[in-house]
Amino acid sequence: MASEAKILVVGAGGLGISAAWALARSGARCLTLVDPDPVELSNLPRQFIFANADIGRPKVEAAREHLTARFPGVSIDARAITLDEANAAALIGAHSFVIDATDNPLVKFLINDTCVRLGVAFVYAGVIGVRGQAMTVLPGQSACLRCLFEEPPGEDDAASCRDAGIIGPVAGAIGEVEADEAIRRVTGLTPQIAGKILTYDAGARPRVRVASVGARPGCACGAFAATTEANRGSKEHDELHH
Ligand SMILES: [Zn+2]
Repeated sequence: MASEAKILVVGAGGLGISAAWALARSGARCLTLVDPDPVELSNLPRQFIFANADIGRPKVEAAREHLTARFPGVSIDARAITLDEANAAALIGAHSFVIDATDNPLVKFLINDTCVRLGVAFVYAGVIGVRGQAMTVLPGQSACLRCLFEEPPGEDDAASCRDAGIIGPVAGAIGEVEADEAIRRVTGLTPQIAGKILTYDAGARPRVRVASVGARPGCACGAFAATTEANRGSKEHDELHH
């Protein structure tokens, strides 16, 4: 990837580490990793980059060290902080693309709303148990997270998601999908899952599905008007041929 685009990865857990590894492997030069948490023993099976000696260190620091040792061309800005209302606009505004790799639903919606407001493309992802999902959002052009869910889940729902745990290979696969979307976008290719949600279900009968997500009328992202306009355009085009 020849691009010097800066990519922001929010969350350095199972999703974020897989995405950052795939980005660095693909030649990404400038990554920012944001995560306030230290490496814990329970992370080691799922977050393959970390070693026993990293326990207690900020995840972003340990990740920077391991990633730059393996991929010397990548420059990593490691921020051991939480993305919040106070810093979201400055952080997101300084990047070309954002990877949502957090397990906090409120932070996901903060990423969505800030990216929509600033016009920065991002990829949403969520992993619960054996099921992972991802959807790319091109602000004003394709459905956003609020078109899909409208509201963040309540605390009870969010807590039950955390308790469900996540399965390493699912987070790894979804993280790779997120990296691929980022690379496509910053190199001028079309993302594959803008306005579409990819679901990877690694249950008893594993399968991958991709379903279209329509923009919601009245959503602040404004994608509904844009996609309606585009549909009308293509219908008129069709009629010309009949
Ligand atoms: Zn929307």
